[in-house]
Amino acid sequence: MSPPPCDRHKNLQMVPLGQTFVNACPVPSCGRCLDEQGYFEVIEGQLVRGETTAPNRLFSTGEKVLKAIRARAGV
Ligand SMILES: [Zn+2]
Repeated sequence: MSPPPCDRHKNLQMVPLGQTFVNACPVPSCGRCLDEQGYFEVIEGQLVRGETTAPNRLFSTGEKVLKAIRARAGV
């Protein structure tokens, strides 16, 4: 099974994010991620599911997402 595309960049396949069950958009400024529950983003440390309209978030997606996921998983 190949990773699904980003819902904002439908021509781009998401890539697995580290040793997690999460796939992330390869576009750094995009920040879209996908897990078994659907698309989400990490905004100010919070997992936000569904459509978001936050403009130009400048952050390192992988790092922030991993942090939030670890916080959620309690590891
Ligand atoms: Zn994207």
